[in-house]
Amino acid sequence: MTDPLSRTHAIALDAADPLRALRNEFLLPKHGAGEQLYFCGNSLGLQPRGARARIQETLDKWASDAVEGHFREPSPWLTYHEQVREPLARIVGALPHEVVAMNTLTVNLHLMMVSFYRPTRERPAILIEAGAFPTDRYAVESQIRFHGFDPATDLIEVQPDGADGLVSMQAIERAILEHGPRLALVLWPGIQYRTGQVFDLPRIVRMGQSQGAMVGFDLAHSVGNVPLRLHDSSADFAVWCHYKYLNAGPGAVAGAFVHERHARTGRPRFAGWWGNQRETRFLMGPQFAPTPGADGWQLSNPPILALAPLLASLEVFEKAGGMAALRAKSEKLTGFLEALIRARIGDTLQIVTPADPAQRGCQLSLRVAGGRERGRELFDYLMSIGIVGDWREPDVIRISPAPLYNRFMDVYRFVEEVETWQGV
Ligand SMILES: *Cc1c(COP(=O)(O)O)cnc(C)c1O
Repeated sequence: MTDPLSRTHAIALDAADPLRALRNEFLLPKHGAGEQLYFCGNSLGLQPRGARARIQETLDKWASDAVEGHFREPSPWLTYHEQVREPLARIVGALPHEVVAMNTLTVNLHLMMVSFYRPTRERPAILIEAGAFPTDRYAVESQIRFHGFDPATDLIEVQPDGADGLVSMQAIERAILEHGPRLALVLWPGIQYRTGQVFDLPRIVRMGQSQGAMVGFDLAHSVGNVPLRLHDSSADFAVWCHYKYLNAGPGAVAGAFVHERHARTGRPRFAGWWGNQRETRFLMGPQFAPTPGADGWQLSNPPILALAPLLASLEVFEKAGGMAALRAKSEKLTGFLEALIRARIGDTLQIVTPADPAQRGCQLSLRVAGGRERGRELFDYLMSIGIVGDWREPDVIRISPAPLYNRFMDVYRFVEEVETWQGV
């Protein structure tokens, strides 16, 4: 048997990888005469080869059909966004009418809070994590103020209770119980962006809803990374972006989930004509009659040129055979990275992300021994030789091998290069 941490073994793992051909579906950025080792799918996923053709197709249709492009096959613009619905629903574990691709993440978060954050004097508070991604915190704080409440008392932040910013389920539970009667909304990430920690979403839903709060998720780092079962989790809503693990391009059209029990309620919302039922939308009447389901939260006719690469990306996910297959490879790939780091460069890189595979996705967050300056040195060295991760202040390097396009050999070479850097 070969040494499980050897180069030979890495090559064997790649040869045995049932998803290895999917790498050819992507354009890999060049470095010198070769390719980058790209570990930054957590921030911006690579371009699917099919994206250009999808955009070109839209430009051609516009050129040849102009306004008729809304109605002419193939892919008429009137129903263009519906093409992404089913593949997207499979990725997030939802019913098709529970998901919609629209706007951007922060816009969707605000739209969801308009409907699902309905504070009262007795129950005005929102609970989030203390280390939340800035946009979540800004959005939540501004919503609290917008409703005339005070973030000083009504924005509740759960502090990490574990090493390196990890948050235990017990800490979340304690906070929800302590503030229960005052909680209007619990907003939690599926994966913490800085640490890479995965949370037990169904459990957070049960805890929040048992206190009478709404529960919503920011799945920016979860979508296309870990399997999700949004419908079964019973979450009230979720939002995410499509430019990270979903590879739909910079600033891509984002996604939202609204549980089907809210599909037909008269719950307040900010309305726009594209959320109106399709049958009556073009009667142009004064009364808004929302489409049942997530589609009813749409405002405008969608940006077709921006949706085109999402369609191309979802085709690759379909080729992969779904999230279960991707996750199986991802666990091996990230597990291989972890084992190599521990065995060979464990004195240099401390792994912040939980060791339990159930509590992480692709990403490992790494802290460099010797502090921030050493960390920056290593990061700059890696970038200079074409190994692309990203840096999160104050001192974390994120390395995210993506199962769609990263190889076991990529991971092996990363570790080898960190060893080389140690030696200089
Ligand atoms: C990437 C990310 C965002 C991005 O928000 P946009 O509105 O797409 O700019 C939001 N929240 C989290 C947790 C993220 O990781």
